[in-house]
Amino acid sequence: MDPKRAAVITYGCQMNKYESERIAGILVGLGYEVSDDTRDADLILLNTCSIRDKAEQKVYSQLGTLKWLKRDNPDLLIGVCGCVAQQEGERILQRVPHADLVFGPQNIPKLPSLLAQAQARRHQLSDLADNPLWDEQLFPIQRAHPFQAWVTVMQGCDKFCTFCVVPYTRGREQSRPVAAIVQEVEALAEQGYQEVTLLGQNIDSYGKRSADGKDLADLLSTLYPIDGIKRLRFITSHPRDFTEKLMRTVGTLDKVCEYIHLPVQAGSNPILKRMHRGYTREEYLFKVEQLRTHVSDVAISTDMIVGFPGETDDDFAATLQLTESVEFDAMYLFKYSPRPGTRASAFDHQVSDAVKTERFQALLEVQEAIQLRRNRARVGRYEEVLVEGPSKKGSVQLTGRTRQNRPVNFIGHPSLTGSLVTVRIDKGGVHSLEGEVCTEGRERGGED
Ligand code: SAM
Ligand code: SF4
Repeated sequence: MDPKRAAVITYGCQMNKYESERIAGILVGLGYEVSDDTRDADLILLNTCSIRDKAEQKVYSQLGTLKWLKRDNPDLLIGVCGCVAQQEGERILQRVPHADLVFGPQNIPKLPSLLAQAQARRHQLSDLADNPLWDEQLFPIQRAHPFQAWVTVMQGCDKFCTFCVVPYTRGREQSRPVAAIVQEVEALAEQGYQEVTLLGQNIDSYGKRSADGKDLADLLSTLYPIDGIKRLRFITSHPRDFTEKLMRTVGTLDKVCEYIHLPVQAGSNPILKRMHRGYTREEYLFKVEQLRTHVSDVAISTDMIVGFPGETDDDFAATLQLTESVEFDAMYLFKYSPRPGTRASAFDHQVSDAVKTERFQALLEVQEAIQLRRNRARVGRYEEVLVEGPSKKGSVQLTGRTRQNRPVNFIGHPSLTGSLVTVRIDKGGVHSLEGEVCTEGRERGGED
């Protein structure tokens, strides 16, 4: 008998991608072959994201296209999980009669029983209940990469920024115990993984309510001695909770990469206040200065939202000015989009789409000029690169990332994939570097 086929389609952030790896692990355990190909699938799961844009409409329109597959194969099961599932809930089942199953991010471990029920009962079902943080080790995982792994250390968020759906879709903060994380990272090291990225929506609050009082800095120090793991990263940091202790730890532990994603969202104090971010522009700038003191050659990336309700020309000028003064190494730039149920969606003075687009373009131009300048400044340096495989540009080109998370393209043999090499940088573009692999050993970060 042919194996059953499942298609898992993933939208959104690393957390969603990681959860799709968990879902795939469970499905493989149930005898499915898992891919993202919906043709001939027996099960299709949409793992959705509702952070911005018209996320719900996109999911409904994707579900609309699946109707024809269901017509040809009435046994096909169609499920929706992730943040849109949590947010829309039963509405999805009402609006889409051919959808069988809706479940939230906290209910992934229940997938085997949900699927069994869906198959047996052949009527729609949902599971959107809050669940305490599940012990991820008890569930299999089908990791997408053989040498880079994500490890969730906490879930949820307590911050309630006025623009953001995360606290509504992913619930309150819960941290995994240090021992469980250590066990998972040790197992990864044994399987030959070299780089581990710790994941949390608000990772600097790790351990806030833990009985052992261990914070993220302590966790990194505990993971540091694990043999085989060469690089540790963590995302996403919050400027309010990023402590000097954590900066010192990043600066001292050489396995922890010099790359911090520190979303600022806006450069104007009135906007930061209305966003409920919990820091001022001056406090943010102070943290950046402190970080650069404690972690030499650190790369800082950020998230920025343009067109938040009430954003004036002066507010936007303050964002441009902060961008110029920090000189971010990368920026994820978003037009504000009202999210259902968030406070800001009901604020007065929503900004027109035309103004959002204008500001988006203006900020992008400023940021790209900064990135080009900063990437060109790497020319002549020797950078440690973890080779990820052939680049999109062509088969002889490889691609990888520096410790500062900059993509680097270079000529090399595909057998280098998965290894750490030293690359001499000879060109810097807006989004990536180019260079040449060096055969002889060099101190990383050195220059000619
Ligand atoms: N926890 C992180 C923090 O506090 O910065 C961010 C997590 S959120 C999943 C990722 C990014 O999406 C945010 O930093 C923000 O820039 C963007 N975002 C969230 N809600 C948004 C909205 N309603 N409109 C536009 N961008 C949004
Ligand atoms: Fe959303 Fe704010 Fe929590 Fe980040 S800190 S996940 S932006 S509510």
